[in-house]
Amino acid sequence: MIDIPKRIRNLTPYIAGKTIAEVKNKYNVDTISKLASNENRLGCSPAVRPAVQRALDGIQDYPDPLARELCSELAKRNKVEESEIIIASGSESILSILCRSLLSSTDNIVTANATFVGIYVQAGVMGAEIKKVPVTRNYSFDTSAMLESIDEKTKILYIANPNNPTGTHIGKSEYESFIEKVPDHVLVIADEAYFEYARNEEDYPCALDYRKENVIVTRTFSKGYGLAGFRIGYAIAHPYLIGQLMKSKLTFEPTTPAQAAALAAINDDEFLEKSVSLVKKERDKLYSFFDDHSVEYVPSISNSVMMICNNEQDAVQFTQGMLERGVILRRLNAFGLPNCVRITIGTEQEMNHFKDSFQLDSD
Ligand SMILES: *Cc1c(COP(=O)(O)O)cnc(C)c1O
Repeated sequence: MIDIPKRIRNLTPYIAGKTIAEVKNKYNVDTISKLASNENRLGCSPAVRPAVQRALDGIQDYPDPLARELCSELAKRNKVEESEIIIASGSESILSILCRSLLSSTDNIVTANATFVGIYVQAGVMGAEIKKVPVTRNYSFDTSAMLESIDEKTKILYIANPNNPTGTHIGKSEYESFIEKVPDHVLVIADEAYFEYARNEEDYPCALDYRKENVIVTRTFSKGYGLAGFRIGYAIAHPYLIGQLMKSKLTFEPTTPAQAAALAAINDDEFLEKSVSLVKKERDKLYSFFDDHSVEYVPSISNSVMMICNNEQDAVQFTQGMLERGVILRRLNAFGLPNCVRITIGTEQEMNHFKDSFQLDSD
């Protein structure tokens, strides 16, 4: 057999969630609420479909490798230069580009033990050591412990703010003093996949307001904008770093239809507002429901809420029971939180389905 390097053999394969059709068939349920992957349950902007249709007219040609039209719009909206932006096939692709460009097997990255799994995979591919600093008792990033675990071999410090799967965030004053203390040789990846949900929160520090040369901010069209299937995201950083990253990006990512979809989506503020306010409203209602049922959960500024079960077995039973009633949730064993379950905030109807199906098997 082909000799596969250990760094690849050591990776854990991604277990795909069940599709709606699979759940319908297997458990014989009519209504499915897919609350497992933090997608936008309202869909996407109605402006996307005609824009994509138009883009298909040029589908025989390679995409614009610089995604110029979208880039210029993003620059305007974020008040940065176009040379400070990279656009790729999802923020996961940007994490991959960063790991490919920066890491070798003698380096390490510092992050938390309960955060976006994508960063573990991409750093693992390069054979880098991943220092997973335990989150605090409140499921927040332990910023001082993270600073302490930085050493001369550390190349990247990864934070997601707000974090996935916990929904927690680092507040303004903590973020400011933390970012100040990160040594210059370490690149901070500030993953803002849930930026659109978080940005109007009082104590949310958008990383762009605290810019340093060693900080890159990643964003995505997959969550608030509802374009996960297109695979498109972007990052903002110092032009020198962006120039280097552009060299190892797959030349023609993202696709032409994805670029068109993203451009249509960011120009529809109304749809975004509707999505964000729906999440806020349904999230508050879910808190009350949990309070009424004495369920432990972690308050969130994202489009998901993490529920805490007594132990792993309870979490397994709960998610399995909900699945059999048509509610697909994400158990968080792969995220290092085996007793926790993540619930994506859906439409009012989906959340009612969740509540009506809610059963904690008591002993
Ligand atoms: C969903 C998610 C991503 C992935 O975004 P894509 O743009 O779809 O690749 C990245 N980071 C975090 C924290 C996420 O939750």
